[in-house]
Amino acid sequence: MCARYLHNLSMPRSTQLLHKPNNPVSAAMHRAGWLGGKEARYMAHEAPFGELTLTCPDGQMLHRLDWVTDQPVLLLKNVLRLTAPNPGVMTGPGTNSYLVGDPNTGYAAIDPGPADTEHLDRLWRTAGGNIRYIICTHSHPDHSPGAAPLQAMCTQHRHPPPILGLASHASARAHSAFTPDRELEDGERLLLQGNGVTHTLRVMHTPGHAANHLCLVLEEDGLLFSGDHVLNGSTTVIDPPDGNMNDYMQSLEKLLDACVQYHIAFIFPAHGYVLGNLWGEPHDARACISHLKRHRLQREAKILKVMQQHPEASMDDWVKLAYDDVPPRLWTVAMRSLLAHVERIRTFSI
Ligand SMILES: [Zn+2]
Repeated sequence: MCARYLHNLSMPRSTQLLHKPNNPVSAAMHRAGWLGGKEARYMAHEAPFGELTLTCPDGQMLHRLDWVTDQPVLLLKNVLRLTAPNPGVMTGPGTNSYLVGDPNTGYAAIDPGPADTEHLDRLWRTAGGNIRYIICTHSHPDHSPGAAPLQAMCTQHRHPPPILGLASHASARAHSAFTPDRELEDGERLLLQGNGVTHTLRVMHTPGHAANHLCLVLEEDGLLFSGDHVLNGSTTVIDPPDGNMNDYMQSLEKLLDACVQYHIAFIFPAHGYVLGNLWGEPHDARACISHLKRHRLQREAKILKVMQQHPEASMDDWVKLAYDDVPPRLWTVAMRSLLAHVERIRTFSI
């Protein structure tokens, strides 16, 4: 772990995060970490690069990239990640739960994950039981069912931490029904304060993956907690009617604006490694989101072409043609996103 981010408390936090390292490693060069006990090197466009840049900006080789569920990973002095033991096709290495804060301010738990007792117990113990907020980015079963049992563990508080988020819409599937203790407003700021330090999480409503999806900006550090809206190593599924492709694209625009407004350099997704690079460098948070947007628009253009060339064909035919670069085993999932694109295309062509 980089000493700069963990111990250099004399500088403003934003400067700690965003200033250039002493010995900047060019974006064109590789960064190295440990994977499976061996040295692993990555270029700027590869998935683990952002996490290595964040944790070791001077290019040290200190960070372990192995996915572990039995212990927290310290990403910054005020951000820890605990990955739930629910890896799979839809969840990648598992759901990332994040703890934001420090022992003096208490912690916000973002996405407690599934109702897995051992995982929730690890979250609770890592926070020293001092959890002030439990926030769900959305209500899917790999994100929100752990909220209530985690709240029930916080018995030493006279007022247990509230479960915060957005209520599921009528369009959500039955397993995603969710009612928070309190609904979060778009733009609302949640504060963690203690010993002269403040951590501010700003709420951003970002429908698209789910109608009740939100992201959080950690303002002092220029970080984005992106839930499932932006992932590392997998593509966000848009599953209508609760998922909506037009909302998804508009939320991407909103996140791009936020990157500029809050100098967001790194993205902490709910699945996969930290994404990004130092602010203003290639592959920073803005570049990652722009790339995602381009990728979606390219797919949409391909779908439109298939629809125009085969207007009478079925959705089953369209998915094979429009997702011919995707393994057939994923076509069932791709069918949901195809439907979302077709909806958006038809909306715009009316
Ligand atoms: Zn998820």
